Amino acid sequence: MMHRIVFLGPPGAGKGTQAARIARDLGVPHLSTGDLLRAAVAARTPLGLEAEGHMSAGRLVPDDLVLRILHERLEQPDARVGYLLDGFPRNLAQAEALGKFSEVDGVVSLDIAPDRLVRRLSERRVCPKCQSVYNLSTKPPATAGMCDLDGTPLVHRPDDRPEAIATRLKVYAEQTAPLLDYYGKRHLLRSVDASGTPDEVAARVRQVLT
Ligand code: AMP
Repeated sequence: MMHRIVFLGPPGAGKGTQAARIARDLGVPHLSTGDLLRAAVAARTPLGLEAEGHMSAGRLVPDDLVLRILHERLEQPDARVGYLLDGFPRNLAQAEALGKFSEVDGVVSLDIAPDRLVRRLSERRVCPKCQSVYNLSTKPPATAGMCDLDGTPLVHRPDDRPEAIATRLKVYAEQTAPLLDYYGKRHLLRSVDASGTPDEVAARVRQVLT
């Protein structure tokens, strides 16, 4: 059974949604560097303040900051059983750094046609409190603008606006996509078609992980 898993895929492929479900199935923590960084921004920590400008522009946060925040999280006792990494690594230097502090059992790549991504990202709304994700056309909240679970007003992430989306897609193509090859060569890569409903995609992910 695999317990140390990496989820790769362009922004908007559904990594966060799938990672949360699969982590629950496997009984391992879902570690999203994006969520960890957003929490640091919200708490106005020095690291969060340094990361904020990069994030809202859609650029990668410098490796040393991301590694620091991830290391800290991996030291928590719940990560001893394994982890599901969502949004890390994002470039070759991060993949090399990960390889130095942990083995990886499998890498799931969520594949989707690029023209779908912009629409998914611009229609995405998130709950800043519980991180639930909605989509204005495919998964609207029951009450417009409110989280179904806790009633918190939903937000449009600053990096889900058009200029930042374009930058994120470019950063993905240039810096993150080479990791498909990196993990492919190490025989760790499992590709999954990420089109369709979250249930359909989750079924495909479970299949490649068993
Ligand atoms: P995400 O929620 O994974 O889409 O991440 C949101 C933003 O956080 C990204 O666009 C980056 O600015 C930053 N970020 C998240 N993970 C990383 C990472 N591994 N390396 C660098 N920046 C990251």
